[in-house]
Amino acid sequence: PDTVRLLSSSQVITSVVNVVKELIENSLDAGASSIDVKLENFGLDRIEVRDNGQGIKAVDTPVMAVRHFTSKICRHEDLEHLETYGFRGEALGSICAVAEVAVTTKTEEDEISTQYTLDLTGKIVSQKPSHLGQGTTVSVMKLFKNLPVRRQCFSSTKKCKEELKKLQDLLMAYAIIKPELRLMLVHNKVVLWQKAKVADNRSALLATLGPSAIANLIPCHHHQEQPEILLEGFFPKPGADYSSTSTSNPDKTFIFVNNRPVQHKEIMKLLRQHYAAQYADDQARNRYPTLMLKISVPPSSVDVNLTPDKTQVLLHNKETALTAVEALLVSLYGFRPN
Ligand code: ADP
Ligand code: MG
Repeated sequence: PDTVRLLSSSQVITSVVNVVKELIENSLDAGASSIDVKLENFGLDRIEVRDNGQGIKAVDTPVMAVRHFTSKICRHEDLEHLETYGFRGEALGSICAVAEVAVTTKTEEDEISTQYTLDLTGKIVSQKPSHLGQGTTVSVMKLFKNLPVRRQCFSSTKKCKEELKKLQDLLMAYAIIKPELRLMLVHNKVVLWQKAKVADNRSALLATLGPSAIANLIPCHHHQEQPEILLEGFFPKPGADYSSTSTSNPDKTFIFVNNRPVQHKEIMKLLRQHYAAQYADDQARNRYPTLMLKISVPPSSVDVNLTPDKTQVLLHNKETALTAVEALLVSLYGFRPN
């Protein structure tokens, strides 16, 4: 059973970025307005995610990291109107199988916080009073300690830097989609990046990408009924100098489906084609627009079960989504690329 647990967990928990993603999503599901992410040695020695959310109720702590425990879904039908990031009850348990985990938590009712140390199976092995305020702090030490090959693979300087960059991009995505959230990233005690609470998506884009990157972005909006789909976002102004509205990587093209940061190849391709078609210059074709696209559809029409990390989603009405995105692009850039 230990080997089975290790194998399946290693498929859910694939990297430092993926651990942080799961922990941040738990914090957001708990209603946090402030999240601190602290890493030591690029997260391989220690990852700590602290939030000021509602905390974990004492009755739930014994099972919080037990496989398939979730406090978020009661009935199968709940999946049809899913509003939380988590629903599988898999992350915490899987992290326990591949690292050393401690959870400190305090709800509004608790007088003080308690720190729980968990074992490989997610069971509490010890607990002690702690001094933290309301919310939850999850510490993940020695990630992949029992998967030496994977740990080795993430240890090279090159890989560490790539992963840190990916993590920064992911944090940016949450910063943009959650303007009211305060976020901070610390590595080896140095603050690498932080973002204060702001009022709206535009201010969040400004806080995240800086004034020059957003100077040429304009708000866009497209709504369609039957089937229902709402597109909102900030796109490069038609005709703007592409050296100021695009990058050589897709890392500043932020796409969200029902508030989840996603990678959607076909939508990305459409965005790129329409954007590039404005320019006669071949160079434009190799560039990715800096933009934010927020797609909202009824929860029942999106399937987030496609990959364990939920970065790829299946839209039941994919054609509708693509058509809507295309309509928005045509209204903005005025023609159809061939
Ligand atoms: P899921 O998010 O799919 O429910 P997880 O394994 O990520 O599963 O978390 C298990 C449970 O632990 C959650 O359902 C929640 O009750 C609790 N939990 C985990 N992290 C937090 C947090 N930061 N704040 C409050 N509760 C949490
Ligand atoms: Mg979760």
